[in-house]
Amino acid sequence: MPYPVVHVLFFVLCISAVAVYATVKSFFRGELSLKGSKHLLPLLFVGSVCSLFPDIMIVHSLLVNGTMEHCWAGPIPTHSLLFSLPAVLLGIVTGYVIYREPRKAIHLGLFAEAAFASHLLLDDISEGGCEYLYPLYEKDISVFSMLDVSFMRTGLLDYLMTSFVSVFLIFSVIMMALFALSEYGFELKYRAEK
Ligand SMILES: [Zn+2]
Repeated sequence: MPYPVVHVLFFVLCISAVAVYATVKSFFRGELSLKGSKHLLPLLFVGSVCSLFPDIMIVHSLLVNGTMEHCWAGPIPTHSLLFSLPAVLLGIVTGYVIYREPRKAIHLGLFAEAAFASHLLLDDISEGGCEYLYPLYEKDISVFSMLDVSFMRTGLLDYLMTSFVSVFLIFSVIMMALFALSEYGFELKYRAEK
């Protein structure tokens, strides 16, 4: 279990790198106004909370039992995509309360899902797997171990499928964050050479 600050930094600096880049660039160009930066706080709030959300049960365990148990919320494993539903709801409600626009609210929900999934990916790297697909599949899956599969052992087709699926999952998390951030004005653009 990486420290909480590592989860937040991983999400902000790696998965949401485009927002950091756009903000720093605008700042040094003198284009970052108070009005223009108004989206930063909701994004930072939802991103930070949801990148820590899978470990949220630790608060309950510490207060009630004095333990560090944080992997279960009743019968549901907290490090599963199923448990991301309350985090997504938090993003949507926060977005709606602040902006009163369903489109912005949905995008903040998507951003929450990306933050939650980034936590699972980091735990996957450090601990070797999470119960991503509970209740469809109740064992740990390690996206990063799948990258190390050998085609000598599995056959070429399985090797290609596994490699594609594992890389695509990581790509999906990054794309969710990019897509959500573009709604809030943070993006890189292709610039055609003249
Ligand atoms: Zn965790």
